[in-house]
Amino acid sequence: MAQDTTFSRIVRGEIPAEIVHQDDLVTAFRDIRPLAPTHVLVVPNEVIPTLADVSTDDEPLLGRMLRVAADLAAQEGIAQDGYRVAINCRDHGGQEVYHLHLHLLGGRPLGGMVGR
Ligand code: 5GP
Repeated sequence: MAQDTTFSRIVRGEIPAEIVHQDDLVTAFRDIRPLAPTHVLVVPNEVIPTLADVSTDDEPLLGRMLRVAADLAAQEGIAQDGYRVAINCRDHGGQEVYHLHLHLLGGRPLGGMVGR
């Protein structure tokens, strides 16, 4: 296999995770170290390492990731109060897992975006 990550093993069901959504393009599961009452990761089923690696062909996938995040926010009951969607990219972005993912965070006030 050319590229394999912890998240692709979760997508394939080879390591456990609390999966909250899966379709033909994306899988969503709860973060193992949640930073908020709701902390869900939405990942492509196929590995794209970072946001910097996406192509024009990936536009439907990126749209699906956002759509699923919004649907899950409603499902989690956090849409009314609001929430945050974040993508960390590469070193300065603080990315730990090189398999593109968005974080859906909510369930409490999240404060400012980045510390000064
Ligand atoms: P990053 O810093 O790359 O944007 O975020 C990676 C996230 O993946 C972190 O919040 C981390 O807690 C989560 N994570 C890392 N390994 C696992 C895992 O094996 N299972 C789950 N559910 N989350 C993971």
